Amino acid sequence: EVITVQELANRMAEKATDAIRVLMKMGMMVTINENLDQDTAELVVRELGHLPKRVSEADVEIGLVGEEDNLEDMQVRPPVVTIMGHVDHGKTSLLDALRETDVASGEAGGITQHIGAYQVTLSSGARITFLDTPGHEAFTQMRARGARVTDLVVIVVAADDGIMPQTIEAINHAKAANVPMIIAINKMDAPGASADRVRQELLQHDVQVEAMGGDVLDVEVSALKRQNLDKLEEAILLQSEVLELKANPNRAAEGVVVEAKLEKGRGPVATLLVARGTLRVGDIVVAGAEWGKVRAMVDERGRQLDEAAPARPVEILGLNGAPSAGDDFSVVDSEGRARDVSQYRQQQQRKRRQFTTPTSIEGMFSQLKEKKAEEFPVVIRGDVQGTVEAIVQSLAKIGGDDIKARILHAAAGGITETDVTLANASNALIIGFNVRANKQAREAAERDGVPIKYYSVIYDLVDEVKAAMAGQLGPAI
Ligand code: GDP
Repeated sequence: EVITVQELANRMAEKATDAIRVLMKMGMMVTINENLDQDTAELVVRELGHLPKRVSEADVEIGLVGEEDNLEDMQVRPPVVTIMGHVDHGKTSLLDALRETDVASGEAGGITQHIGAYQVTLSSGARITFLDTPGHEAFTQMRARGARVTDLVVIVVAADDGIMPQTIEAINHAKAANVPMIIAINKMDAPGASADRVRQELLQHDVQVEAMGGDVLDVEVSALKRQNLDKLEEAILLQSEVLELKANPNRAAEGVVVEAKLEKGRGPVATLLVARGTLRVGDIVVAGAEWGKVRAMVDERGRQLDEAAPARPVEILGLNGAPSAGDDFSVVDSEGRARDVSQYRQQQQRKRRQFTTPTSIEGMFSQLKEKKAEEFPVVIRGDVQGTVEAIVQSLAKIGGDDIKARILHAAAGGITETDVTLANASNALIIGFNVRANKQAREAAERDGVPIKYYSVIYDLVDEVKAAMAGQLGPAI
C-alpha cells in the first residue's frame, strides 16, 4: 500500500510543501509524486498533528478508498473554524454575532436552524464555515476519532478577564492538533477591558501575537456591540490563504459527520461536512457504520439543497441509523456496496468493544520506538501550580536528541475527562502528581485505553520517565 506525497497532503488538507518539509527533517529528499510506504506516511501524518487512520483491507477491497485527486482539479475551498475559550468569555455570543454577518441573511431570513455548523457568505463573496459547538472538548473528541475537521481555531479571550485556565486548555488543545489559531480579544466594550494585558499574558503562555513580535493574528472585538467582526473574518481569510485550503469538488463526496441524532417523525438526521467532492440528493452514503440514500438535504436556513460543495455543512435525511460525531462518510456507487461496508464496520465495532485492552506505558514506548518517534507526549496534572512547573522543568531536561518529552498540557487540579480526550487524541501518557482522576476521567481512560500514572515524589516520576525513554522500562510499571 503506497501513497504519493501529494495525495497524503490532500487527505490531511495540508500543503504538500509541509509534508515535504517533514520528510526532509527525516532525511528524505522527495518530490510531490514520490510514493511513500504506510509507515513513512503515518510518521508524516503524526508529525503534522493528525491521527493516522489505516484503511482496512476490506475498505480497499470494497473500493471505499477514494482515488487520488489531480493537482489541476483542486479548487480553493472555504475554511472551517472552531471557536474555543474560557467559559463566559463570549464563545456563544461571538458565534451568534458572526451568524448575522451573512449577507444573505437580510432577504432569505437568517440562519435559524442549529445543525452543528453554519456557513456565512461575506460581502466580498468569500465564505467561512463555523462549527457551532464551541469548546475544546468537542474539538478534541472529534480528533480522537481520527477526524480532522477544523482548519483554524479562534480563541476567545475576554479583555476584562484575561487568560483563564480554560483559555490555556484551549490553546494547548489547538497546539496539540497543530491547528493555527487566531486570538479574538472580546468584550472590548466592557469597563476594565485591556487588550494589552491579554497580549502580555498570552506571551507568558508562549503565544506571541504580531504586536509582540510573533505571527499569531489577534483582533479586538465586541460580540455584544457587533464591533470588528469584519476584521476578525478578514484575519480568518488571511490565515486561510496561508494554509492554501483546496479540494476537488468534482468527485464522489467524502467528509465527516458533525452531529447526528434520531428525531421523532424524521428518523435519523445527520449533519455532514463535505471535505471533498460534491454531495447530492440521491447519493448513496456510508457514514460510520450506517448507510442510506440521501433523501433530502437542508442547510442552516432550512433551505432545501440539491448539492453541497466542499466545506459546506448540510443536514441530511435518509440514513438508517445515527452515526457518531467524528465518523467519516463517503458516497459509494451501489446499495449493495453500502450494505457490505456498513455490515463490516458494525462487526468491527462489536469486536473493538470486546477487546479494548488498556494501553500500558511499555506498549506506548515500544510503539514510539518502532515508529522512531522523536517525541513522548504527556499531559501533566499536579496538586499545586508550583509542583506542576517543577515537573515541567524537570521533564524538559531529560531525553536526548532522539526522544524528548512533549508536554501537551500541564495544569493544577485533578485529572478530568477532557485531559483523557486530549491524551487519547495525541497518544499521550497522563501523569498525575498528588492528584487522582475523577470518575468520568477514569472510565474514559479505561474505555479508550489511555494510560495514567500516579506519583507523589518528583524524583520517582522523572526517574521512571527517564528509564522509559531509554527503553529500560522495568516490569514494575
Ligand atoms: P461562553 O460561555 O464563552 O459561550 O460565553 P457567552 O457567549 O455565553 O457570554 C457570557 C456573557 O458575556 C454573557 O452574559 C454575554 O452577554 C457576555 N458577553 C459576550 N460578549 C460580550 C461583549 O463583547 N461585551 C460584553 N460587555 N459582554 C459580552
